[in-house]
Amino acid sequence: MGDIRFDGRVAIVTGAGVGLGRSHALGLAARGARVVVNDLGVSRDGTGASSEAALSVVEEIKAMGGEAISHGADVSDEEAVKDMIAQAMDAWGRIDICVNNAGILMDKTFSKMEMSAFRKVVDVHLIGSANVAHACWPMMREQQYGRVVFTSSASGLYGNFGQSNYGAAKAAMMGLMNVLHLEGARDNIRVNTLAPTAATRMTEELLPPEAATLLAPETITPGLLYLVSEDAPSRVILGAGAGSFAQTRVYETKGITLLDADNTPEAVAARFSEISDPKGQAELDDAFSQTKKYALNAAQARGLKLGW
Ligand code: NAD
Repeated sequence: MGDIRFDGRVAIVTGAGVGLGRSHALGLAARGARVVVNDLGVSRDGTGASSEAALSVVEEIKAMGGEAISHGADVSDEEAVKDMIAQAMDAWGRIDICVNNAGILMDKTFSKMEMSAFRKVVDVHLIGSANVAHACWPMMREQQYGRVVFTSSASGLYGNFGQSNYGAAKAAMMGLMNVLHLEGARDNIRVNTLAPTAATRMTEELLPPEAATLLAPETITPGLLYLVSEDAPSRVILGAGAGSFAQTRVYETKGITLLDADNTPEAVAARFSEISDPKGQAELDDAFSQTKKYALNAAQARGLKLGW
């Protein structure tokens, strides 16, 4: 297998001033990509703004002989994102790779959380990612080439106390990926999700120092680079941290079919162990696959033939 290179490719990395985004931007540039280093330069909870961090990453890339520009768009601001994409197009005429990484935290238990904090976090992670991907989409279709990554989190995939806003927004990445994977396939646009766990300012007080050293952002970037490479897979959720890489998958069990008078809540309860039995479980290709499966189950149980 040849080296993974990004020569001639243009990449946008959001939230690339520090942490994981910075590591991704440097990793892309080191392998030949021209990089738009986006960062609003906010604190961990989204307050303030500064162009310093993004500019310093641009300088680092230039110092290693690469090409980069910075842009301070707030990803949740659609007009600012459009301006960023227009500037990238003016500079380099194409956009091949879109890494949605920018993010904030506003943790509180659900009972104490103001809905404004819920909305703000969803706005940055979900609407922000959709804004950037949406602005890149027409160019990617036109080019018949695009690689998009969303950044999820174990908080969204598995849950984390005190992060209802963040967990909901991060789980939404999977939904967005699933649909864009289907819509992008005919135009050679591949869409994946990274679920990192890293020592950054986002996690600094959670990790003992020895673990923090192991969980450096640079241990995750190789996975991101694979997800945006020429031979990237699509619709993959890749967990990454400290050199571990693992895929998260959503399976549906085979299930059971209850008809007519047998279709009662008591029957669901009585047969719940069969409903949840992992034997024969499968990944479904799309939403309609589930509709088809259930209709076929019922038809078969009734001795009917469907046109499918
Ligand atoms: P970080 O706080 O170090 O960096 C986030 C960057 O995003 C900052 O530079 C910030 O200025 C920028 N940013 C925030 N809001 C922005 C906005 N509206 N527009 C543009 N830029 C904005 O965080 P990190 O740990 O490097 O996290 C990067 C991504 O990875 C985030 O999406 C985060 O949720 C996700 N993640 C991180 C971890 C972890 O363990 N660190 C775990 C799971 C997921």
